[in-house]
Amino acid sequence: MRDSPKVELHLHLEGAVPPSFVRGLARQKSIDISGIFDEGGNYRYRDFAEFLKVYEAATAPLTSPEDYHSLTRAVLAESAAHGVIYSETFLSPDFCGARDLGAWREYLHAIREAAEAAEAQDGIILRGIVTCIRHFGPDAAREVALCAAETAGDWVVGFGIAGDETAGKPRDFAWSFDMAREAGLRLTAHAGEWAGPQGIRDTLRDLRVERIGHGVRAIEDLALVDELAEAGIVLEVCPGSNVALGVYPGWRAHPIGQLYDRGVKVTVSTDDPPFFHTTMTHEYDRLSEAFDWDDGVFATLNRTAAEAAFCAPETRAQILKRLETA
Ligand SMILES: [Zn+2]
Repeated sequence: MRDSPKVELHLHLEGAVPPSFVRGLARQKSIDISGIFDEGGNYRYRDFAEFLKVYEAATAPLTSPEDYHSLTRAVLAESAAHGVIYSETFLSPDFCGARDLGAWREYLHAIREAAEAAEAQDGIILRGIVTCIRHFGPDAAREVALCAAETAGDWVVGFGIAGDETAGKPRDFAWSFDMAREAGLRLTAHAGEWAGPQGIRDTLRDLRVERIGHGVRAIEDLALVDELAEAGIVLEVCPGSNVALGVYPGWRAHPIGQLYDRGVKVTVSTDDPPFFHTTMTHEYDRLSEAFDWDDGVFATLNRTAAEAAFCAPETRAQILKRLETA
């Protein structure tokens, strides 16, 4: 599965930071983060609370546009090694320049430059989705939406929301999503991972998104599942992430198989891959084992992802062609 071409729609740039890269950067900056790794050099945590601490410690050394340039190169090299030909990554002006528009532009410039270099070297295409952080509240989200609207275009193609799904209500963020929509950005939102089906319903009604990050807990309400299928809402499903964080006890218990069978447009992504000890290859291998999925199913998932990508039509045509000729 490693070499088959893949499209990934749900990847947090900081969350994809390879452990070896973090160790190097921390050493350079004389920051001691040795406690977050196990003996094999991978991120170590026992539960969700500890995961959040490890995540924060691992991403703390990323403090400048130059760091984000190197980070982007490291992440894309890893993605390309697992067959990813097109990727959309969540970018947070909260972490890139503390929501200051001028600083955000500098971070964005560095990230785009790195993405261009990666595309020239490995053929992998990257696009950005500016993402506000739910537990930072609606006022911070407005500033993020302004950053997104000001830099919307052929590279920043989407707007989204991540963070603690139990904080606040989707409607608190409607202003930000309206602003992003008016700027021409396509919309996605994390929902139905930690909160149940009602969170997905509220998100669709109040934020009018066309994709849902995770969305897997829709399975607890089969009427909603049918509505998602009918409306063609695309789910950015991250099974390895859900299993690692205990949303589901194992791969066979994961609802992606049922959602697919009921006609929901599902796609597969890694979320924060090294933190969940996963890669796109690992996801495909585990799914193939758990649900007996063959190459035909994965081809369908990738075509769905390419069609749901927020990129320009010419870029989409290019990706679809690469998927077809594989
Ligand atoms: Zn996510």
